[in-house]
Amino acid sequence: MKDFTFDAYRLYLKTIQSTYKHILRFDEYLRLGRKPVSFAMIRHDIDRRPLKALRMARVENEMGIRSTYYFRVKPHVFKPSIIKAIKRLGHEIGYHYETLSDAMGDHASALKRFRQNLEMLRLYSRIDTICMHGRPFSPHNNLDLWRNPETRSRLTTNYRILGEIYLDIDYHDIAYITDTGRNWDQKRSNKRDVVDTNVLASLKNGMGLFHALKNKRWQKIIFQIHPERWSENESEYFIQFLNDTCVNLVKKVL
Ligand SMILES: [Zn+2]
Repeated sequence: MKDFTFDAYRLYLKTIQSTYKHILRFDEYLRLGRKPVSFAMIRHDIDRRPLKALRMARVENEMGIRSTYYFRVKPHVFKPSIIKAIKRLGHEIGYHYETLSDAMGDHASALKRFRQNLEMLRLYSRIDTICMHGRPFSPHNNLDLWRNPETRSRLTTNYRILGEIYLDIDYHDIAYITDTGRNWDQKRSNKRDVVDTNVLASLKNGMGLFHALKNKRWQKIIFQIHPERWSENESEYFIQFLNDTCVNLVKKVL
């Protein structure tokens, strides 16, 4: 079976489902007072191709799985009908923000845009959690928007946000498994999307990932998946493969 296809994704989900009793959305996790000793959380960053996200959301729904979809507020991603459809399938919608890089590092303007975009998203869904978009080619790190403690406290008080998932989750004992760079190796092609963890979750390939999940190598996992990379048929698979290979080359040069 080819990796990065919907068939492979179904297999990973099935394996996670059979091994982890708790599959939590990020809002559910942040609301829990006492966290379970073992759990899985599935997170999707919708950087582009929102329709693909909807298809993946349906796959999960058919399997009885609920996850979290972080949407950018950009014309090619912000599609209200898709956002509403994913929400109706039982998934959480979050905000994948990038207003500091949009505002070229100007904090006041970035905060204003953040509030406006959040309000726009909230026209179509409840939004409880947010997650920065790590724009690889921008000099600005969007997490810096919350560097000032006063601004950060506004997140809960003014914007009614439960948490920024890079800042408000303690990752030290969580395996962070991500498809960034179209591989399962934490150390490659991963410029900004990194968390501070003691758990090494670098795998050679999809087979390695499958066995690790099946044998429950980790008690806690975050499975971070970009739907746009996953194909539903063979020809789409090769186009996506070439595309990701090019992006990785550019990142390497940078
Ligand atoms: Zn992103």
